[in-house]
Amino acid sequence: MTGATRTTCPYCGVGCGVLATPGADGRVAIKGDPDHPANFGRLCSKGSALGETLSLDDRLLHPRVVGERATWDRALDHVARAFTDAIRDHGPDSVAFYVSGQLLTEDYYVANKLMKGFIGSGNIDTNSRLCMASSVAGHKRAFGSDTVPGTYEDLETADLVVLTGSNLAWCHPVLFQRLAAAKAARPGMRIVTIDPRRTATSELADLHLGIAPGGDVALFNGLLLHLAAGSRLDEGFVARHTSGLAGALGAAAGFDIRTAARVTGLSPAEVERFFNLFAATERVVTVYSQGVNQSSAGTDKVNAIINCHLLTGRIGRPGMGPFSVTGQPNAMGGREVGGLANQLAAHMELDNPGHRALVRDFWNAPRIADKPGLKAVDLFEAVHDGRIKALWIMATNPAASLPDADRVVAALARCPFVVVSDVVRDTDTTRHAHVLLPSTAWGEKDGTVTNSERRISRQRAFLPPPGEARADWWQMAEVARRMGFSGFDWDGPAEIFREHAALSAHGNDGCRDFDIGAHAEIDAAGYEGLAPFHWPRPAGQGPRQRFFGDGKFHHPDGKARFVATPWRPARGQTSAARPLILNTGRVRDQWHTMTRTGKAARLTSHYAEPFVEVNPADARALGLAAADLALIESDRGGALLRVLVTERQRPGAVFAPIHWTGQQAARARVDALIAPHVDPVSGQPESKFTPVSLRRFQAAWYGFAVSRRRLAVSGLDYWALAPVDGGYRAELGGADAPGDWPAAMAALLDPAEEAEVLAYRDVARGVYRFAVYEAGVLSAALFVAPEPVEIARGWLIGQLGRALDGAERLRLLAGRGGDAAADPGALVCSCFSVGVNQITAAVKAGAQSIDAIGSCLKAGTNCGSCRMEIGRLIDACSTAKAG
Ligand code: SF4
Repeated sequence: MTGATRTTCPYCGVGCGVLATPGADGRVAIKGDPDHPANFGRLCSKGSALGETLSLDDRLLHPRVVGERATWDRALDHVARAFTDAIRDHGPDSVAFYVSGQLLTEDYYVANKLMKGFIGSGNIDTNSRLCMASSVAGHKRAFGSDTVPGTYEDLETADLVVLTGSNLAWCHPVLFQRLAAAKAARPGMRIVTIDPRRTATSELADLHLGIAPGGDVALFNGLLLHLAAGSRLDEGFVARHTSGLAGALGAAAGFDIRTAARVTGLSPAEVERFFNLFAATERVVTVYSQGVNQSSAGTDKVNAIINCHLLTGRIGRPGMGPFSVTGQPNAMGGREVGGLANQLAAHMELDNPGHRALVRDFWNAPRIADKPGLKAVDLFEAVHDGRIKALWIMATNPAASLPDADRVVAALARCPFVVVSDVVRDTDTTRHAHVLLPSTAWGEKDGTVTNSERRISRQRAFLPPPGEARADWWQMAEVARRMGFSGFDWDGPAEIFREHAALSAHGNDGCRDFDIGAHAEIDAAGYEGLAPFHWPRPAGQGPRQRFFGDGKFHHPDGKARFVATPWRPARGQTSAARPLILNTGRVRDQWHTMTRTGKAARLTSHYAEPFVEVNPADARALGLAAADLALIESDRGGALLRVLVTERQRPGAVFAPIHWTGQQAARARVDALIAPHVDPVSGQPESKFTPVSLRRFQAAWYGFAVSRRRLAVSGLDYWALAPVDGGYRAELGGADAPGDWPAAMAALLDPAEEAEVLAYRDVARGVYRFAVYEAGVLSAALFVAPEPVEIARGWLIGQLGRALDGAERLRLLAGRGGDAAADPGALVCSCFSVGVNQITAAVKAGAQSIDAIGSCLKAGTNCGSCRMEIGRLIDACSTAKAG
């Protein structure tokens, strides 16, 4: 294939357009699509590195049944028979699908149709339950529909953007870059961040509110009272277009500034400043994400925010409104087809008999589900207690990503029949599959996705499917036919999209928000060339960007609802045994369980191992030093992580990223610590508030190793493995030092028989160093010390594969080759591989702005994801100089 293919990034909910150009050498060149209205050519570090994640070495390429390679026919027959038998013997609710925001809308549509229309159960839920179910529930309570009212443009045209529970700079980087550019062009724009952590996003803020975990409802209840008392009530809007204000104000009663400050852990002055800013600014957008959604009060948090916009009438107009940003590339598409257990399809409701009749007739469905199915956490509990006899998991890794993940592993192990459709051969979940089905990956599959602003874009294939990989929709259609169902005979995704669009318009006279009937007769060529568009797009009507500007909502009376949101504490509570609150989240350069981003060396360089962020006061009290290893434990499980001591973390709370799995680290599945507490309305788990304890791991030795081959790390107490250019790196540690270090080195590095091994030993100090040369070049090295190994990692990695002369070999063993000039330090700019040491040196040499750093090092001049970190380094250097 030659020429660029227009497609869409498979990572976050920004939904950036990508130009992918396969080359003759097998590489794929990636650029941002300048014509895509989500990103106008920008890509973040993850999107820019997509071309480095397409190797086939870890791919599942053939169906497997009970561990043996099988034909597609055999595997599909086996799945159809197991599901048919379970339904016959135990009823339709004895089977379930657990799907993913990674699926394309067409895949999702088929999964939902099969489960809810033909099997006759609501038991299909999605990993989007973990991401934004509280926003869905909050939207439905307030608006009568799951509608995101605004667009990305509203963030750029607002005069105040409030970011609450959203590290936009790292989790939605291109949208953050758009916001940063808008603020640079209009310095009068104000930005407020509300987050227990001071994040990269906070660097852009005029005001950062380091709120106590769980304080959001109290803060927004206080704001509601303040707005109502301060003449910001839009009486006309509230009277004509809303109901329920008295109840919301009643629930907020008592949250004056002092009380709100006490509950949120903020100062009264901070709270007052925020309230006054919000009150005085007409064009306000409030952006919220997982920090709001992932809570046992997530839906109330969403409604507390929406209440403030309804009271002021600031919704549906340019530059204002509540705005939920979704974590996943197609969380929104899943919502559109009914991918959540409590939805039907096309934004219709399972508990609405009229909607059920519409969908049943449209699908000619024999057995439409008549009640909601099990939401994610309950679904896996039902697997654990034996109610679910057959489970099909698609494009997700619940053994790593669901709360109480060890119990999920136990549930999978005892489930009579587990099918996993995935692109990756070995994950924490595929290990439990009776049948493995190889799916097509990004670059090979074809369909549509919807981003956070309701924009539907095409994902297009530009690579042939490898091995026997097939699309997820095809797998499900084949199983459906084998189960004896008709209505699954599509010839490709275009035909499925047509059906989906037709269903959205079926019986829809404007009463339902989701309507893309204009595309109900799209032909193959039209689908192939489909340009990104906002929904709704009803037949015969032009584009419409925003909802609710006309004051019409989707409750039967056409009015929006204020929702009473009494503040309540989080479900988990700290205690003497578990005195800290664990908050989980993402890092800039990784995505979910790292099955793709973990393959790109430049992405793993930003953070090469799992970590826990601890405030210096807590670290002191716990006897923890930077770079120690620490055991973090909750009542559910534990993990062993590297300690990062940082002022950016609140005292009393710690943060750990969600990305590391059993494939990349010894014990770093942090979701194993999370209790399965869920929001009572949305069913979304509380991933941001887990009581934990933290204690130093008494390591007898620490190690750092590089190798051109994958290191044999299993069995060590601590290891974290990551790719580098030309090999791997590993951070290591253990409670007991091996008695025979040369033997331990040989087991770990597996040198060739003819290899030359140079060693340095200081037995008294417990220091050991080994360098392995094969065919005259450095093929591996291991550095061991009784404390965290101090070696310039970037420099040592750069020596891999090099032929070193005698003096260089000695310097390498001495660990002294890596002076500051040679060692770039921890990676800051992934695009141009610029590290912290290089940036610090440039600042000291006179580069005093982000642009000046860009001019001399290029750092921050491509995707821009690192610009906030560069700014922080410049500030740190200036502060140090001033001090
Ligand atoms: Fe992909 Fe980054 Fe754009 Fe998100 S912001 S869609 S991860 S390029």
